[in-house]
Amino acid sequence: MKKTIIAQAKLNEDQRAELEAHFEILPPLPSFDLDAPEVRDALSRAHGIIGSGLPISEALLDAAPNLEVVALVSVGYDTVPVEALTWRNILLCNTPDVLTETTADTGFTLLMATARRVVELATWVKAGAWQASIGPDLYGCDVHGKTLGMVGFGRIGQAVARRGALGFGMKVLYSNASPKPEVEKELGAERRELEALLGESDFVCLTVPLTEETEKLIGEKELARMKSTGILINIARGKVVDEGALIDALERGVIRAAGLDVFEKEPLSDTSPLPGMANVVALPHIGSATSETRTAMAQRAVDNLRLALTGERPISPVNDEVLS
Ligand code: NAP
Repeated sequence: MKKTIIAQAKLNEDQRAELEAHFEILPPLPSFDLDAPEVRDALSRAHGIIGSGLPISEALLDAAPNLEVVALVSVGYDTVPVEALTWRNILLCNTPDVLTETTADTGFTLLMATARRVVELATWVKAGAWQASIGPDLYGCDVHGKTLGMVGFGRIGQAVARRGALGFGMKVLYSNASPKPEVEKELGAERRELEALLGESDFVCLTVPLTEETEKLIGEKELARMKSTGILINIARGKVVDEGALIDALERGVIRAAGLDVFEKEPLSDTSPLPGMANVVALPHIGSATSETRTAMAQRAVDNLRLALTGERPISPVNDEVLS
């Protein structure tokens, strides 16, 4: 008998056909109400789940006694209780590598857009305000030759740094759990403690995963350490920054600007001042959102799920210990 999977992710026809050849596919859950009979029925039958939208809790896992694999369509897994899965022998897979370059592109887009005030000035042109050449009050700041401080120097952090060092002649500093001597050699990057990096960098770009250690890593004290001309870019997770402290710092001119792809609460609440601030470029969490990359991410998740449920080693397991 075919194993059963819940397809929460958007899959193209080929990906769906690939899964259908091996498994019975149930549609996305109609709601996340664990008391709803159709939700309970689907969870009780599922051997696998593909997609990142499902809020995975102990209660959900209790309702899914046959679950063997959760195949996320994301590299970050901060929303998943990994230990609870491991304890139940459920494998978790994610999608590293295939989204690295696209997410780094998004980081650099935010860096350029904030430095050169692209959104602010394009809005100004659209509003018909361009009656004469702009004055110094609307000038941006240079990117080339400046200092780029990467907080988190893994796959995405290094890819952003490569753009800065090789494309824009930037000096790269990084703060990371472990040293990266190879990349230091390749890009002339230098490792710093976070405190020193914040003080020396013109652009501070966050690419750490969200963990207990990195939650609110950047708060009032850290923002105060940045240059008053400094720009903060966050393509990691919203909760890595204390958003209230950031809003305050942007309003008081403690730092120059921020380019944000991620927020404490997503979608942003109607009451957030961030989208309306001239010195903020806010994007709707589009780090990896290109057609090519989202297709590749879904394909990686399909491959992970298929391999894991047919007794083979998936490409990118998170909790390896389940396999042994
Ligand atoms: P990665 O290769 O695992 O890189 C993360 C880096 O952070 C690693 O080098 C790690 O150090 C370092 N790190 C972990 N905890 C740290 C801490 N407490 N202090 C300092 N450094 C720490 O992951 P990645 O593929 O680059 O992805 C990074 C994150 O980006 C994801 O977790 C996700 O949250 C976010 N992301 C966002 C988007 C988006 O749409 N905006 C898209 C993709 C990913 P070690 O090398 O020593 O382990």
